[in-house]
Amino acid sequence: MENIGTKIVKARKDHICDWCDCRIPKGHHYMCQTNVGNGEIWTWHGHLFCEEALDKIPGMYDSVIEDEGITTEHFRECLSEWLKENHGTVTDGKIALDPEWNPQVHPLSEIIKKAVREIKANGSLRMTFEPSFPDEYR
Ligand SMILES: [Zn+2]
Repeated sequence: MENIGTKIVKARKDHICDWCDCRIPKGHHYMCQTNVGNGEIWTWHGHLFCEEALDKIPGMYDSVIEDEGITTEHFRECLSEWLKENHGTVTDGKIALDPEWNPQVHPLSEIIKKAVREIKANGSLRMTFEPSFPDEYR
């Protein structure tokens, strides 16, 4: 897989984020990445906060699969680990997520947005991706 172009664009129609499966509403800015590989060309759509989560949540770059980059599955796993570590309570050997941080209660996109905000407030772990975010994400 080769990335042949990455840009922040304003959505002319609704899209679905390839990281969290939630809606990117028309009019919002998002990360648009064009990839080629195996004779195909495709576009990856990502919320800006999901792209930032990639950079802020530990472990995201630990298993970059050659020719695939970071998979959605790996993204979800790292997020889930972070949630358990930071917003989980262990009871009888099981980890229960605080309802405020539970993807079964709130849309995943809202949880990711909150996670990024919290990590930034506590001091960034990595600072490699710092786009200037449009107002709708503040
Ligand atoms: Zn997303």
